[in-house]
Amino acid sequence: MSEQLQQLQFQLNGINRQLLHLLNEQARTADEIVRIKEKQGISEADPIGVQQMVNELTSHNPGPIDNDTVMYLFTEIFRSKMKKNTKNERKLLVSRHHKSEDTIIRVKHAEFGGASHVMIAGPCSIESRDQLLTVAAALKNAGVTVLRGGAFKPRTSPYDFQGLGVEGLKIMKEVADEVGMVTISEIMSPSQIDTAARYVDIFQIGARNMQNFDLLKAVGQTGLPILLKRGLSATLEEFILAAEYILYNGNDRVMLIERGIRTFEKWTRNTLDISAVPLLKQETHLPVLVDVSHSTGRKDILLSCAKAVLAAGADGVMVEVHPNPQSARSDAKQQINIDEFHTFWKGLRDSGFF
Ligand code: PEP
Ligand code: MN
Repeated sequence: MSEQLQQLQFQLNGINRQLLHLLNEQARTADEIVRIKEKQGISEADPIGVQQMVNELTSHNPGPIDNDTVMYLFTEIFRSKMKKNTKNERKLLVSRHHKSEDTIIRVKHAEFGGASHVMIAGPCSIESRDQLLTVAAALKNAGVTVLRGGAFKPRTSPYDFQGLGVEGLKIMKEVADEVGMVTISEIMSPSQIDTAARYVDIFQIGARNMQNFDLLKAVGQTGLPILLKRGLSATLEEFILAAEYILYNGNDRVMLIERGIRTFEKWTRNTLDISAVPLLKQETHLPVLVDVSHSTGRKDILLSCAKAVLAAGADGVMVEVHPNPQSARSDAKQQINIDEFHTFWKGLRDSGFF
């Protein structure tokens, strides 16, 4: 390199360092402006006035850089600053930034998000007292603490079984009291809250209602534990923001449950997103569970998938169990019978997960 080139290179490095220094100083000043405005209760979308600053700069631009480039460069610099501020500002209530320790939700004798894994099992739908009692007694005997069963069923077709409604909830309470289990059942509308609260311990918000904002707000105003399912095509961001609605409205007893998402894959009913487990555990302080039945839609891979999600850090697993799956009024194909549950359960216990 010629001496002149070397000198110019040296000069350029020096200018770059000065620029860097100035950019940092600029960032500190902008931060200070945002901080003072915040203190004064001013929370504008654009607290540092990007457009105004860019206009000011272009009107004093000595060149040779043209105004379009100046506008582009400075807008980018200011906007990146704003993005950072907005991100830091918005400390979601569900996030680890807001609360670093794990949230443990205790419901009667069950504990979600604590040291031990939780098994939630039971039929897709409550069909009769006999059906529920048979499965609940077997599960309880096996050492399962939490019983699931739907009374208000979100069915794709209006011609399909819609659930027994309040009658189903009454059956659930009777059976759970008899065997001594904690119960989970889905509610689909704010109008069902008061009635359901008399009969079930935990409200499930189903995948199809993950963004039913009125429902999220309404359950947020109760102190009841909520099991929120991931929407059929919801991103993790949308999922945690749905949970945020519940916390924001005053209820921090929220559990997240991955239940598979829609993809092009046909061999499973949905695609189980295992990566959701460590990501949700990392981003939020809430218990994270996985429904292996709805995410796979098939019985033959339930054990492997359950092991996988528990190994990935899930706090528990949900599985659909029916005394006679062939005759089930919903999700007949994916529900396992009691013997199959015993095999599944043994597999998880032998692997040390329970
Ligand atoms: C259910 O658990 O009964 C159910 C309907 O699941 P999802 O909302 O995940 O489809
Ligand atoms: Mn089901």
